[in-house]
Amino acid sequence: MSAAFDVDVAVIGAGIHGAGMAQAAAAAGHSVMLLEQTAIAAGSSSRSSKLIHGGLRYLETGQFHLVRESLRERSTLLRVAPALVRLQRFYVPIYQQTRRRPWQLRLGLSLYALLAGFTRDAHFGTVPPHQWATLDGLDTANLQAVFWYHDAQTDDQALTGAVLRSAQALGARFICPAQFTGATLRDDGVDLKYQHTGLGQQCRARVLINAAGPWADTLSASITPAIPVPELERVQGAHIVLPGAVERGIYYLESPRDGRALFVMPWRGQLMIGTTETRFRGDPADVAPSHAEIHYLLGVLKHYFPRYGASSPDDIASSFAGLRVLPGGAGHAFHRSRETMLVPDRAQRPRVLSIYGGKLTTFRAVAQRALRQIAPSLPPRRALARTDQLPLHAS
Ligand SMILES: Cc1cc2nc3c(=O)[nH]c(=O)nc-3n(C[C@H](O)[C@H](O)[C@H](O)COP(=O)(O)OP(=O)(O)OC[C@H]3O[C@@H](n4cnc5c(N)ncnc54)[C@H](O)[C@@H]3O)c2cc1C
Repeated sequence: MSAAFDVDVAVIGAGIHGAGMAQAAAAAGHSVMLLEQTAIAAGSSSRSSKLIHGGLRYLETGQFHLVRESLRERSTLLRVAPALVRLQRFYVPIYQQTRRRPWQLRLGLSLYALLAGFTRDAHFGTVPPHQWATLDGLDTANLQAVFWYHDAQTDDQALTGAVLRSAQALGARFICPAQFTGATLRDDGVDLKYQHTGLGQQCRARVLINAAGPWADTLSASITPAIPVPELERVQGAHIVLPGAVERGIYYLESPRDGRALFVMPWRGQLMIGTTETRFRGDPADVAPSHAEIHYLLGVLKHYFPRYGASSPDDIASSFAGLRVLPGGAGHAFHRSRETMLVPDRAQRPRVLSIYGGKLTTFRAVAQRALRQIAPSLPPRRALARTDQLPLHAS
């Protein structure tokens, strides 16, 4: 006799991946329950650089599939969420001492336009020198060229909330605060336990989606019998916000210290700069910008925008840090793959699918891919909607 299931899909974590998974599974007609321990987007999904972008710099590491998919998702999100995802003009200044030379930029932007399908948003060009003075006080000494192109910016927390509301409108049940505490695998599903309103609760699901972000490996470790967990690394990224408007768009800068790419962007009427990459060990709940990161970010800002020359940490209006989950391995995190890792507990009819790493930008495509992977474990249902056509509203 088949077991009685409470739900087709149980999702843990209301970050962008959990919300996206809940939306995709509910849109496919499945019953869905989503558990979140703290609040919507309490983890990395409110601490990102807030860009919906192809990721120009990923071309340097040959991540063409990721860039193409991200650019496709960018145009889908611009269409379904116009109030939440806005196209922005990006500026890339090239100085005498900049490592990436103008020909490299031109080549990269041409490839970027090709991968974007030569749409209207894929245009790029250079700012004529007589307009350099209009670029928000950007230092023009030794400036050789300023390229412009387009990518998009969002409010990551608001976007996650909008995707979650879309999932709820399709019937997904959201329980918060609810902390997942462990699960036992059955041949045909999962028995899971969680704490809600101080009480221990249980639920039987056909599939468990582990979308716990930086906590995902800890969550996997609480499942019996043990499931495979890839080698991972948590890398901290910090941003600081300072008073002062950025009118023209987003500045894509190269750190004079180590050549890393950073962004200076407008954020809620102020200026935001990020991000760093610092190896993190410890409890993900404790992540916070370090003094070294704050000085590094201030240093880059002062270097490119002389009007911030006298700024000190006391001038910082706010700051935050988040955790990327990257594949483990040798070499600097900057060069590590940003592709999302989807790891099932077994090859055939998975009962658990863990989502490790990834990008805000590609959440919808990742959810579709994950849904295809768990489809053999789920009963056929009548689809209610397609997620690439569901509008996402600001509130
Ligand atoms: C510094 C930085 C900058 C970034 N910039 C960009 C960018 O500009 N563009 C882009 O596309 N991507 C960017 N990213 C990547 C993107 O932010 C992340 O990939 C994405 O937010 C991860 O979402 P998630 O849902 O997997 O995890 P999270 O958002 O961390 O969500 C996990 C959730 O699970 C919950 N949870 C954990 N354990 C439990 C439990 N036991 N029970 C219940 N709930 C639990 C947590 O409370 C949390 O809310 C950036 C990442 C970082 C760190």
